[in-house]
Amino acid sequence: MKLSEIAKVTSGGLYGSDLEFQSISTDSRSIEEHELFVALVGEKFDGHEYIDAVIARGACAMIVSRPLAQDIPHIVVEDTLTALGKIGSAFANATTARLVALTGSCGKTTTKEMIRLCLAEHGEVHATRGNLNNHIGVPLTLAELTAEHQFGVIEMGASGVGEIDYTVSLTQPEVVLITNASAAHLEGFGSFENIVKTKGEIIRASQSDSVVVLNKDDASFDSWLAMLNGRKLVTFSGSLTSQADVCLKSKTAIEPLGYQLLVQVGDQDYEFDFHALGDHMIQNALASLAVVHAMGLDVKVALQGLTKFHPVKGRLSPVKYEDVTVWDDTYNANPRSVEAAIQTVGECEGEKWLVLGEMAELGGGAANAHAQLGRKALNHKFSRVFAIGSYAHCVIECGGFLGTAYKKTDMDVLISDLLNSIQGGVHILVKGSRSAGMERVIEALKNDF
Ligand code: ATP
Ligand code: MG
Repeated sequence: MKLSEIAKVTSGGLYGSDLEFQSISTDSRSIEEHELFVALVGEKFDGHEYIDAVIARGACAMIVSRPLAQDIPHIVVEDTLTALGKIGSAFANATTARLVALTGSCGKTTTKEMIRLCLAEHGEVHATRGNLNNHIGVPLTLAELTAEHQFGVIEMGASGVGEIDYTVSLTQPEVVLITNASAAHLEGFGSFENIVKTKGEIIRASQSDSVVVLNKDDASFDSWLAMLNGRKLVTFSGSLTSQADVCLKSKTAIEPLGYQLLVQVGDQDYEFDFHALGDHMIQNALASLAVVHAMGLDVKVALQGLTKFHPVKGRLSPVKYEDVTVWDDTYNANPRSVEAAIQTVGECEGEKWLVLGEMAELGGGAANAHAQLGRKALNHKFSRVFAIGSYAHCVIECGGFLGTAYKKTDMDVLISDLLNSIQGGVHILVKGSRSAGMERVIEALKNDF
């Protein structure tokens, strides 16, 4: 795209010569040659302070909110964040790619990856890189759509009310999916009802002819159903007894890791090998097939992609060291994803231990949520628990296992206790919120073997 086109879309003034840029970046540290830099302004940073550094790295032009003295083509806009949104929206409007948007408390990135694999069997796909799923990441992702893409898969997260409204309005997707709702980031939303409502923004902000894909097993299904307002619905369910457009009919464990799944999509049955563990992973797979079904694409072809799926690093991926299995689920944690992990590892034969870091952002319900997970671990026959952080004692207090609570500053002590007690055949599940830094435990285990 050319700068003059961007100036038009953003109602900005172009200073300097017009030119073609290759891509857009808001990150002064990673910007590369021929990129257009957008100088965002946040509470704690101002992109305008890095203009010289960005020029030195080879950026070809800038979007800024005040004229620059430096000799570089730039567009001056009123607000750079709004301008970024308008650019994303312009790319979404211009593309011929069929766009899918997804949100949910857990499993967005995992399901996005599964949808990407399914759609890749049908054409060129552009999907959100990493976790760029907010009001900045979504327009950046949209701006990466090119004429080659036939499909776009856009992950949408929210840290507050209205964010998904905004990112959906930029994207105008053909299909929208909600994976589930749970008490993730409760602090930012105030109540669980607000979380359900916020996920529902993906429905309410979508066009009236969008297809909505919903999880029939989720407790909030009915709330979202009430938001459809005439939009077409496609449902999925991982429960063996439930009726849905896409549902699970049977699962048989396969070695070394996964299941042979029999699923019904519409009125057809399909069988395929799936290489991830846990009912939550199966739900994500069903969600991705529901998207394929909603788009009217050949399911058999899509399954060739889905069968290539392997868990994303840090999202419940098992690693074997001699006869000890370490389940790395350190990427992040909220009550629902910890329950899913406990349940999955709980089904394994042999001794099971849990190393749990704090779940962040739970507000007033934090003590209770941590206590419930202690009970869940006990029910699933975990024999030993190492819990760390402010609510560690709540996890341990249910008492039926050997457990120790560590202060947040005592990670080294936890690691040394864990390494000293390791025994053959044990399954060790390591999980915690991003801020808990539980990957340190994974590193220590790796180095010890
Ligand atoms: P984020 O909000 O950080 O973007 P996300 O929604 O993209 O998270 P993932 O990164 O896919 O989610 O997975 C996060 C955690 O949730 C992992 O621990 C994973 O094992 C777990 N998880 C994945 N899918 C589900 C699911 N359907 N239900 C419950 N937990 C899940
Ligand atoms: Mg994600």
